[in-house]
Amino acid sequence: MALASGVAMASVPGMLKKAFEYNRDNFMEDREQRMKKEFAEMKYKITQAGLWREDVRDFVSLTEMKMSLYLIVNVLLLGFTMTLWCEGQLPESTPDWLVMGNQTATVSAFAFLLLTVWLAMHASVAAQAYQTRVLTQLVRLPIPTWNEIEACRTAASEFEKVNSRQMFRVPFAAGKQENYAAGNTAAGAAATTCPVASGNTGGHSQEVTADHASLAADPWGLERRGDDIYELGEYSGMEVAKLRHMKLMRQAAVYWQTYDAFARVSMSVGINQLMLAMIYYILGYALLEARAPYAAFAGPDGNSRGSTPFGGLLGCSLFAHVKTFVYRGPWGWAGALESLDDKKRQDTQTEVSEKLMNSKAPKFVYEEVFDTHANEVPTKYRKLSSDGITSSSLPSGEKILQVDTRILEDLSATAIVDIQHLFRGAHLAQLAKILKDPEASSNDRFVALELLKNACVSAGKVMPSCQDTGTAAIMAKRGGNVLTDGRDEEFLSKGVYRAYTEGYLRYSQVAPVSMFDELNTRTNLPAQIDMMSQKGSTYDFLFVAKGGGSANKTQLVQKTKGTLNEKAFENFLRETLTGLGTSACPPYHLAICVGGLSADQCLKTVKLASCKYLDGLPTTGNKHGRAFRDLHWEERTLKLSQEIGIGAQFGGKYFLHDVRMIRLPRHGASCPIGIGVSCSADRQAKAKITEEGVFLEELETDPAKYLPDIKEQALLQGGEIVKVNLNNPMADNLKLLSQYPVATRLALSGTIIVARDIAHAKMQEMIDDGRGLPEYIKKYPVYYAGPAKTPAGMPSGSFGPTTSGRMDQYVSEFQSRAGSMIMIGKGNRSKEVTDSCKKHGGFYLGSIGGVAATLSSNSIKKVEVLDMEELGMEAVWKIEVEDFPAFVVVDDKGNDFFKKWSKEAAKEPEQDSFFEETKGFFFGIDADKPA
Ligand code: SF4
Repeated sequence: MALASGVAMASVPGMLKKAFEYNRDNFMEDREQRMKKEFAEMKYKITQAGLWREDVRDFVSLTEMKMSLYLIVNVLLLGFTMTLWCEGQLPESTPDWLVMGNQTATVSAFAFLLLTVWLAMHASVAAQAYQTRVLTQLVRLPIPTWNEIEACRTAASEFEKVNSRQMFRVPFAAGKQENYAAGNTAAGAAATTCPVASGNTGGHSQEVTADHASLAADPWGLERRGDDIYELGEYSGMEVAKLRHMKLMRQAAVYWQTYDAFARVSMSVGINQLMLAMIYYILGYALLEARAPYAAFAGPDGNSRGSTPFGGLLGCSLFAHVKTFVYRGPWGWAGALESLDDKKRQDTQTEVSEKLMNSKAPKFVYEEVFDTHANEVPTKYRKLSSDGITSSSLPSGEKILQVDTRILEDLSATAIVDIQHLFRGAHLAQLAKILKDPEASSNDRFVALELLKNACVSAGKVMPSCQDTGTAAIMAKRGGNVLTDGRDEEFLSKGVYRAYTEGYLRYSQVAPVSMFDELNTRTNLPAQIDMMSQKGSTYDFLFVAKGGGSANKTQLVQKTKGTLNEKAFENFLRETLTGLGTSACPPYHLAICVGGLSADQCLKTVKLASCKYLDGLPTTGNKHGRAFRDLHWEERTLKLSQEIGIGAQFGGKYFLHDVRMIRLPRHGASCPIGIGVSCSADRQAKAKITEEGVFLEELETDPAKYLPDIKEQALLQGGEIVKVNLNNPMADNLKLLSQYPVATRLALSGTIIVARDIAHAKMQEMIDDGRGLPEYIKKYPVYYAGPAKTPAGMPSGSFGPTTSGRMDQYVSEFQSRAGSMIMIGKGNRSKEVTDSCKKHGGFYLGSIGGVAATLSSNSIKKVEVLDMEELGMEAVWKIEVEDFPAFVVVDDKGNDFFKKWSKEAAKEPEQDSFFEETKGFFFGIDADKPA
């Protein structure tokens, strides 16, 4: 027994040891399981957060995509609205309420669509901003910290802290492990805090309830439940809305949903207004322009029906009624009926249709388009004769005038001779005004003085005022009570013939004998004669002699309504003035006609206006389409020309004397604009035949009275006149000219070669044939001119410069062979000429255009044919000059006096800036539009 008891005593320590090891292994096994569970929980939480973040992105992308769609749609609609505004002009006869409705709807459509763009942008930006905030601050991936990972670890030494009964519990014999679990006391302890109590310093809360402790297999009190990983399950419907991240996003959405909603409302209203504008446009266009009432009503009707789906955007069940009022605009009442009663609607539409159609057809009113008597300026006439006119009266008392057509011959001859030598007093007064204007440049004054002196010479009626004596044009208006034998045009032509063949005028008309062969008619015939009728017993005339240079400035451009606004029109004028150039001998009398029932009416108006024939027009328009003068734009255009600074040929203020701006009615789809000038040879005169006799406008026979008491030298204001002896070697003269800047005034003396178009072509042929240039063109300056006939006993006929630009094509080739090193002419030259002068050391000198008579009588001492005599007026001439006036226009350094007004300069941006490039880009887009 004692042995047995001794053996038993001896085996107790061994048993205790076994029990202790068994319990410690259990503890360690459970600890490892716990740690694995903790790590798995962390992983799940990271996965969970990732899913939340995806939810956030999905939530916001809904708004982003919607707003992007709004932006695209609204930008397109804005473009459409702008097009409707710019291009969708209603016919001019459209009633005011329709025009107002169209414009108001277009403007409000634009405003709402623009507002939508802003709201959509704001909503999109707000959504993205909140998404960023939520993702960066509130819904982050829960990556565990070192402390948290450390807290998952349980040290083996923890086993030393457990209850000794647990440590040495004998399995089975001592009951279940759970009965020994920490905290599972009889009192049912409320909670057990494992990590802290057990020395763990981790961050996870290990708080577990007593119930949990009793139910879970956590004998060591080291585990916890993963109840808080509640979002890893499958959720649907309202359960999702309760998730924390969804709650966050719903709170954030408050900040952009308002903008989103307003964008939608604004877009609905914008589209609504756009459709209303289209309805007005369709109504106005189809009903008034196309006169198609069915189409007019079908358009709006279709529009309003087609637009019904937009009601959905408003989310309004009453949309059908609302749209009726809104779309139908001023006749909303009719539309309201539509939704109730189709029959009534049709009746109403018919009624409105009739009203509108009637507004297109007011009562017949005949209004003379050109009422030149509205502000008639009295014309002074001189009586030529009273022969050949018989007057009688009808029983009704009306006068009948019988005119012998032969008197038309005398009238025509006298008028042409007069206008070739004399000027209107008003024109001369304008020249005299330049001399007195302190703002005029010295070059302006010099040109004006030369033109006045020229008028004095030509008033002697020997030398015509200009060597280009022009094309004779006669406009005649025969009263219905004036009787002739019908040969009016023949006798008017005969008068032209006499004037040109008997005087010292140049023949400029060439007749085509085949498509490419022409002959000078040597009579300056044919003349352009336009016969018209008028009521009464007066026969009115306008005689004009139009030089080639001046006629070549006439332009017609086809614009659109887009030009008919202040800014576009001013830009157009600025461009036009700059492009006119000086080759038609300014100062000009400029005429512009805006509109016209045809291109030819527009240009004819320009011609008559430039002759001051339309000065008596009214100064306001009316609804019947009468022509009128726009005095405001006349003034404004004149000011613009002064700002540009081209001046009277060589810089200054007086590019123009005056402006006539005529506005004519036009076809809604065309807007012709005609531009023309009357040059310094301002040659025209009115005439009339009445029962009292034949009368011709009185022109100034004593222009000397306009000459001021002024010394030429004073005109220079201290500037220098450089004398050049042209008989010196060419190289010396080139060296001399090289010392002076452009616009320097020169007095040329010596020999000059005169050659123009055909002579240059012949010289080019000589080069091509290998014969080279003639010596004379290398030795002397070349003057681009052609003389009028030489009066008996005088060294020369009128001998002014011609437009130099026509000879540009030869300059480079000639200068490369030492020819044409000094050129004299009028007007500006091309860049090729400037480049050639720079390369070869040449010069181009400007001579004053329009003073041919003074040049001939004062400066040209001898004229002889030198070469190519068979060319007549186009032959090569050699002339001797003395103090022949000229200006340096292009020098040997590439400077060109006219450069800043050239097209090339206009294209060059002033600064190399982004703004200028952008401006250029937009100009480029607009440039080729059919304006
Ligand atoms: S003034 Fe000049 S534009 Fe006028 S006709 Fe004479 S040359 Fe020609």
